[in-house]
Amino acid sequence: MSDAAPAPLVPDVHAIPRRQPVEGKVNLVGLTRAALREALIAAGTPEKQAKMRVGQVWQWIYHWGVRDFDAMTNLAKDYRRLLADNFTIALPEVVTRQLSADGTRKYLVRIAGGHEVEVVYIPEEGRGTLCVSSQVGCTLTCSFCHTGTQKLVRNLTPAEIVGQVMLARDDLDEWPAPGTGTGEDGPRLVSNIVLMGMGEPLYNFDNVRDAMNIVMDGEGIALGRRRITLSTSGVVPEIARTATEIGCQLAISFHATTDEVRDILVPINKRWNIATLLDALKAYPGLSNSERITFEYVMLDGINDTKEDAHRLVKLLEGIPAKVNLIPFNEWPGAPYKRSSGNRIHAFADIIYKAGYASPIRTPRGEDIMAACGQLKSATERARKSRAQIAAETGQ
Ligand code: SAH
Ligand code: SF4
Repeated sequence: MSDAAPAPLVPDVHAIPRRQPVEGKVNLVGLTRAALREALIAAGTPEKQAKMRVGQVWQWIYHWGVRDFDAMTNLAKDYRRLLADNFTIALPEVVTRQLSADGTRKYLVRIAGGHEVEVVYIPEEGRGTLCVSSQVGCTLTCSFCHTGTQKLVRNLTPAEIVGQVMLARDDLDEWPAPGTGTGEDGPRLVSNIVLMGMGEPLYNFDNVRDAMNIVMDGEGIALGRRRITLSTSGVVPEIARTATEIGCQLAISFHATTDEVRDILVPINKRWNIATLLDALKAYPGLSNSERITFEYVMLDGINDTKEDAHRLVKLLEGIPAKVNLIPFNEWPGAPYKRSSGNRIHAFADIIYKAGYASPIRTPRGEDIMAACGQLKSATERARKSRAQIAAETGQ
């Protein structure tokens, strides 16, 4: 892909005004039920009422999507005042929204400190997947990933992670209107979440866990654990916690069949190599035939895409209920690799499939707005650069 990606159909429209955290007030978004309880008690809620209050406030925020305490009509006026005096219900700010020709939406989101992350919504037949970021940048330096060329700025808070889901539901108008039933009829717009945006989720485990537990809570957004997939480059010591503390699906950025190549593509392999990673996966508490682990495999021309690689991969997968997701490489400006040819990708997929593993080839989505896997933040970085250039040119 060239530096000059085609202009999006709807360029940078729709800056949605959003309430920013108010100084001195605690943001209720992102608090676990236990933390919410403590916060309500600290603000003067009698302990005896705390459980009921947590339930009520939780439903307003996460089931109905209400942001204004005054709209919480089953609470007495005085209690609403107490809440408003002490708390806020704040999401990160959507700076721009881009819409791809294929319906993919990319949100550029600003968080505290002026940092920015990207969130991508991918509509499909009967479902919709939200690709959520867990960090600003990434500490890891996978050589094919554009996010990996950017330093880690910071971990996202639970509020910022849950906030990405909530702002997408805002934009898609997916909250039920109070008094109109549960709003759960028909297919959901955000039906699935993948932690495949910017960052390594297992290096921000606690915040990702708290955020996903909020999203899964049955009295709120209520997404089932099987509809959430966490993707990791292979942080071995944290992998088991994905099953025990979140219970969502697991995807591994595998990408190579020898340590020699994986050391270069996914440098965390130097710390935990293929054998160590596979041992951890064989011992994974959540492993079963109905809950297979997804192996992501980016197809890089001449690097990891031979038939020998495919056969080696099949051997490595032995004993692990797995499916293989083949990702045609998404190029970015200055990327040191090229996408494998369609023939190569299909030949590779065929070998995996004949060995008994599902091997879908992922269709790149939102390429025209740089929203495809591994491209995140690059467009923003470029935009920033051009803003800086403009400033230099105009002397402002
Ligand atoms: N840090 C996590 C999750 C984010 S990346 C991880 O590495 O798993 C989500 C997926 O996109 C990973 O499998 C990643 O390896 C892949 N990816 C990164 N850059 C890519 C690119 N340029 N083209 C295609 N896939 C890419
Ligand atoms: Fe980080 Fe994942 Fe990109 Fe590697 S592939 S640099 S772990 S975001």
